[in-house]
Amino acid sequence: MSVEVQKRKCKVCSKESIRANVGTYTKKSSKRWIGEDGRQWNGRKCPQCQADTAKVNMRRLRAQKREPNESGT
Ligand SMILES: [Zn+2]
Repeated sequence: MSVEVQKRKCKVCSKESIRANVGTYTKKSSKRWIGEDGRQWNGRKCPQCQADTAKVNMRRLRAQKREPNESGT
């Protein structure tokens, strides 16, 4: 069994990065890819952009929790 390695352009930052195939999530689902530093790719997003997105999402989630919910009349 050999490890598949390829260069992939990130759809967010458009930088080319090396990534390696480390198997699949489950038998049928898509392949799992990790970058040079061992961090995981998320679809066509490089690990760096994925980390940035996660941070933003976390911040947004926390903000939503703190703000009073103004649904209902
Ligand atoms: Zn990127």
